[in-house]
Amino acid sequence: MVMSKVKSYAAQSATSPLDNYEIERRTPKTTDVQIEILYCGVCHSDLHTVRNDWGGTIYPVVPGHEIVGRVTAVGDKVTKFKVGDLAGIGCMVDSCCRECDNCKDGLEQYCEKGMVGTYNGKERDGSGTTLGGYSKQILAHEDFVLRISDKQPLEAIAPLLCAGITTYSPLRHWKVGKGDKVGVVGLGGLGHMGVKLAASMGAEVTMLSHSPSKESDAKKLGAHKFILTSDKEQLKSVTKYFDFILDTVSADHDYNLYLGMLRTNGVMVCVGAPAKPAQVPAFNLISGRKTLAGSLIGGLPETQEMLDYCAEHNIVSDVEVIKISEINEAYERMLKGDVKYRFVIDMASL
Ligand code: NAP
Ligand code: ZN
Ligand code: ZN
Repeated sequence: MVMSKVKSYAAQSATSPLDNYEIERRTPKTTDVQIEILYCGVCHSDLHTVRNDWGGTIYPVVPGHEIVGRVTAVGDKVTKFKVGDLAGIGCMVDSCCRECDNCKDGLEQYCEKGMVGTYNGKERDGSGTTLGGYSKQILAHEDFVLRISDKQPLEAIAPLLCAGITTYSPLRHWKVGKGDKVGVVGLGGLGHMGVKLAASMGAEVTMLSHSPSKESDAKKLGAHKFILTSDKEQLKSVTKYFDFILDTVSADHDYNLYLGMLRTNGVMVCVGAPAKPAQVPAFNLISGRKTLAGSLIGGLPETQEMLDYCAEHNIVSDVEVIKISEINEAYERMLKGDVKYRFVIDMASL
């Protein structure tokens, strides 16, 4: 198979910064869609992976799984896309493809054989490690490519491919709707989408943040209330208050603080993935019949549903567009919680 050389950005180790790198991509297989990447969002998972916070990073790693661009080639058997179409790729590029029960149900993220992540994943044909969107070009099986609206700014759509679906999916799964009291913990990439989406579904949304400077932004994004989590008085006002809490925090933190804010039968869903395991006494769940759950991105049908929902309701991400040369600085700012509210790389700068 002919391989084409593609300009990209990679980290060579946990401590080396992201820098210029050339990768090889395969020519499209018959079912592949090839995309020229125009914008790629910067997810905190990129940073966790580059720094090997979770272990298991295979270097050199090319991060990036919030990808939007234009189709430049399609294989003979591709039916959903043609050259020139806008298209997106999120966190997965493959799975067992409808052989296991989860894939049959459109829950490819929970594929029983293991979904293939857009980067740091193992290609199912044994051809190596997947390389992500901090790159000029990418390709994937057409089933893993999403249709993108031409009615909204492309750079602001990119973060929907991870931050959008990761917050949309649990809100839908737990049927959050009108009148529900929802707390969103952490106002970053995921958090700001969580606020926008929960508000659009009719919930009363409270932002739970450790950054006092984010109060006015949280309200502009759609939050009805703002609680500074370091302020004991403010915390008292939300004791046993929420029906549903979406925890998007990337850093190690205490889940018990938030469990105490749930009403009887309340549900707290962790989407943030800190490196350190949390300690939760059973009694904090027993009293009040509370649920502590987790959720991973979303399946392909639901990701398309979310993109269409956002196009219909005019929801996009609030983005700060950066050049690829600014990526290491962006990572440093994300570690400090200084993000408004998603960095997106303009790939023309690569
Ligand atoms: P982000 O943009 O960096 O936002 C994280 C937010 O967490 C910060 O803005 C900050 O909000 C809060 N935070 C940061 N440090 C904190 C600290 N020391 N104490 C308390 N709060 C702190 O990150 P993101 O891209 O939204 O990702 C968030 C997490 O979700 C990451 O762990 C990522 O890997 C994970 N993730 C999971 C999935 C999934 O499928 N489950 C998908 C994507 C990402 P405040 O300033 O408002 O407190
Ligand atoms: Zn992500
Ligand atoms: Zn499967």
